[in-house]
Amino acid sequence: MANNKQIKIMEVCGTHTMAISKYGLRKHFKNTELISGPGCPVCVTPSGRLEQCVSLAKKQNVIITTFGDMLRVPAVTSTLEKEAGKGADIRIVYSAYESLETALKNPSKDVVFIGAGFETTAPLAAFIIQEAYKKKVLNFSVFSMFKTVFPALEAIASSKDLKVDGFILPGNVASVTGYKNFAFLAEKHNIPCVVTGFFAKEIKEAVNMLKLLISSGKAAIVNKYESAVSAEGNLKAKEMLTDVFDLKDDVWRGFGIIKQSGFGIKDKYKAFDAEKKFKLKPVKEKKDKCICGDIMKGKALPANCLLFAKACTPQNPVGPCMVSSEGVCAAYYKYN
Ligand code: SF4
Repeated sequence: MANNKQIKIMEVCGTHTMAISKYGLRKHFKNTELISGPGCPVCVTPSGRLEQCVSLAKKQNVIITTFGDMLRVPAVTSTLEKEAGKGADIRIVYSAYESLETALKNPSKDVVFIGAGFETTAPLAAFIIQEAYKKKVLNFSVFSMFKTVFPALEAIASSKDLKVDGFILPGNVASVTGYKNFAFLAEKHNIPCVVTGFFAKEIKEAVNMLKLLISSGKAAIVNKYESAVSAEGNLKAKEMLTDVFDLKDDVWRGFGIIKQSGFGIKDKYKAFDAEKKFKLKPVKEKKDKCICGDIMKGKALPANCLLFAKACTPQNPVGPCMVSSEGVCAAYYKYN
């Protein structure tokens, strides 16, 4: 590869997106464009799924528990925050386990934990579902919007219109899954990858390592986060995921349906599956001017959105990429 060829390196994790913006790393590397991928779980959740959360919040006798990021993400007709303003009982929790405790303290109410995330947070949801099952906490359920990151990476790596030269892989996801699960990017798609942590020094090292691999034509996976990531990952967490969830086809904002990419709750635990318990019907996605979908596919930047920093700001977010603390638009707004 000629030395002055522009290369594209994608960071796959929202925490990396924030760190790269915060440390000003996008301008740090010569002939290198750092683009963002589908690593913010709230951002890849489509508005139709969020509308199902809104419909849950409107139900009588229901307490919604969720992480703070979910509140302001626009669904089709409303947000959880607006529903809270109208009187819905919506409580922010700081750990998934608090949701189960809320159910135990409120036996006359139905408590629903709304969760979105990847392999980093899905095991915690699996754990509380197992606990609810063991303790027979039948007034508790989970609305699962958890996803596995691998099929989305497969979609990006196979994309004909987006050529990614290298991936910065998320140390947090890899600590659960093991780095071996990402090996297909190098072996099947010939794209080098580096697993790394979240400090500026670690990210810089990862990019330099990727540049070296790319320039030498070596498609390998390198684990630079050995303190937390092994080849096999966290076997206990993986066991919990397998026990509680089945992979199902799922809709990703911007990508549409990605096969076998969503963590659906297994039949064994169906009493704790909010979707089944409340017989929620699918809702179509809202069409709007937000281009979060393209941004998370690495095809556009926030500056390409006509609404960025005008109609859409962190105070008045139009799309999820501006709401989430890991969102690309929020990162660009705050640091660029
Ligand atoms: Fe969506 Fe707002 Fe980002 Fe535009 S600036 S892509 S509307 S979140």
